[in-house]
Amino acid sequence: MKIPKGFRFGGVACGLKPSRRDLALVVSDHPAAAAGVFTRNKAAAAPIQDARPRVPAEGIRAVVANSGNANALTGPAGLDDVSVIRSAVADALGVQKRAILTASTGVIGARLPAMKIVTALPALVEQLGDHPDLAAEAIMTTDTRPKMAARELTLGGKSVIVSAICKGSGMLAPQLATALCVVTTDAAVTPRALQETLGRAVQRTFNMVSVDGEMSTNDCVFALANGLAGNPRISEPGPDLDVLENALGDLLGEMARAMAADGEGATKMMEVVVTGAPTDAIARECALAITSSPLVKSALFGADPNWGRILATVGARAGAQGWPVDPFKARVVLQGVAVFAGGAPVEIDREALRVRMRESRVDVLVELAEGASRAVSWGCDLSYDYVKINADYSSLIFQKADGGVAKDDRVSNYTPTMKKALLAEALKYIAAFSGQIAVIKYGGAAMVKESLKEAFAEDVTLLKRVGLKPVVVHGGAPEITKTLEKLGERSEFVDGMRVTDAQSLPVVEMVLSGKVNQELVALLNARNAGAVGLSGKDGKLIRAEKIQHESGRDLGHVGHVVEVNEKFLRMLLDGGYVPVISPIGLGENGASLSINADEVAAAVAVALGSKKLIYLTDVPGILESAPDGDLVRQLTVADLTRRMEAGAITGGMKWKAQSILAALAGGVERVHVLDGRQPHTVIAELFTDRGVGSLVQKG
Ligand code: ADP
Ligand code: MG
Repeated sequence: MKIPKGFRFGGVACGLKPSRRDLALVVSDHPAAAAGVFTRNKAAAAPIQDARPRVPAEGIRAVVANSGNANALTGPAGLDDVSVIRSAVADALGVQKRAILTASTGVIGARLPAMKIVTALPALVEQLGDHPDLAAEAIMTTDTRPKMAARELTLGGKSVIVSAICKGSGMLAPQLATALCVVTTDAAVTPRALQETLGRAVQRTFNMVSVDGEMSTNDCVFALANGLAGNPRISEPGPDLDVLENALGDLLGEMARAMAADGEGATKMMEVVVTGAPTDAIARECALAITSSPLVKSALFGADPNWGRILATVGARAGAQGWPVDPFKARVVLQGVAVFAGGAPVEIDREALRVRMRESRVDVLVELAEGASRAVSWGCDLSYDYVKINADYSSLIFQKADGGVAKDDRVSNYTPTMKKALLAEALKYIAAFSGQIAVIKYGGAAMVKESLKEAFAEDVTLLKRVGLKPVVVHGGAPEITKTLEKLGERSEFVDGMRVTDAQSLPVVEMVLSGKVNQELVALLNARNAGAVGLSGKDGKLIRAEKIQHESGRDLGHVGHVVEVNEKFLRMLLDGGYVPVISPIGLGENGASLSINADEVAAAVAVALGSKKLIYLTDVPGILESAPDGDLVRQLTVADLTRRMEAGAITGGMKWKAQSILAALAGGVERVHVLDGRQPHTVIAELFTDRGVGSLVQKG
């Protein structure tokens, strides 16, 4: 994603939330014009009270935003805490206190532990860089994914970027949901002009999103414009301001749709367009009435083309508000199909329309015949999950004494209905998988973070308990690099493979078999998983041969798998053990060879005739392109091969892709690539209907 000149971003975990990033910083290296749009909720949070009278303004340098605590309804202490944070950020950046804006989202009514934020600032400032990803992640609360985007435009002959990070996923637990957005641009524009343009763009985007009609105490949208693009400064309405406003509206429109699509429990996004309204206000209210109607929303969840509910909503609102709107003159179009026109229903192929209603985006058009005003609103369906989450889940979020939040998600805390639903769904899969072997490659970030390691060990133990036979193959690349660095040795990579000379081989072996493997085995056995740590040399488990790289370059002690000792593994599995394998192979004359763990996992899966192979890594799955392309949820062998040939799969993922193809060719039925940064993804994948990550099948 492109970012405007002179902006830097960062996001860290400061301890407001149990284990996730919760503190974001957006910095402009030059004083920026700033504008802001704020919630109209009269119970506005302290950061809103602090910022609202201070914008529009010149000379702003940074926005600091936290999740996990809203600093709302916290009394006079709330404003003191904002002041402490502003001073600390100003000191850390070497700028004036008046140049800092703050925003918060999270639990209402608990004092914000400002010192946690202050303590985390050095690390946050250290981390500032030109990727907004971590900042976008740090402001998430109930969102299931970070939201950010950018637009490029030309102003006065200069190239300008407008980018935004944003969060918001509906108000299902009103104390936890808020829309926060920070817009950054290198356009030169006066604070006044920026404020007006931002206000109008927000009016037709964020203000037209309805997930459940709640209004948070903390909603705010900031815009910073530092002028580094060098365009003639915009101060008056005119063509330049129009171009900027169009780009901004387009960008915020994308953010608004992303929020609607990520609404709590949402399975679908709906876009409602109302045209022909007598006034702009009526067009807007009419569109919002439709996206907010529980009846329309539940019909949407059921993929029911129930246009009657849409017109009923319009009629009800028109009657109650006394609008000069006649529903009988309206034309209603669903997914491009006219369903009501000329005062009567249109004959339609209901089955065909029903199929189209299952799409992830549903378009509703209501053409009134009363005027020329138009509005667009975005919303989502009302699913079982929304109610489940509202009824069961929110009660599991509790406040800790220090003002942070934690989640108590033991099943015993759920309502009986939820428990039954959960167990019924899980048991179906447990029965189907019982006795099956699942090979799991453990790599990426899940290997580094303590809480993720614990979650992984829990998952593997649970799989074993319910009758699955897990086999774990682990990597350890970051750990090896770190150790080599400590010893003053540099790691050199050829085509993604670490050149392993005689000096570094013992280090590689020590880290993989001695440290990573034993730690993992200890974590598993602390839960009585019956884990057995093995290197490929133990019991001649993995015979390997040295790689001859096509470049002719000698990679040293790096190998390919030649044969897996299937009998040995099977004996362990039959004995009820969980093999945990480090990717060291047995070469000629008993020498060690380091092998890519992805390849080992595939070879082990093939040798054992396993139907499932799971790769846990540090991306959401196979992406359209790395690092921020969309997730590809399902692929066939042909799809994957095509993507490899097109060069869309590079770095470590190339190894995985090759290994996946080898595994499928060798009889494995399903290969999953999952995000190891999310706790318990393995369980979520295996035991629920909703797939996570990427699934590759023969096709
Ligand atoms: P692991 O420790 O799980 O083996 P790797 O770093 O070896 O992790 O491989 C995963 C990396 O591959 C990702 O972090 C990403 O940078 C890179 N990559 C390259 N192309 C893609 C792609 N198309 N989809 C996903 N990841 C990709
Ligand atoms: Mg790798």
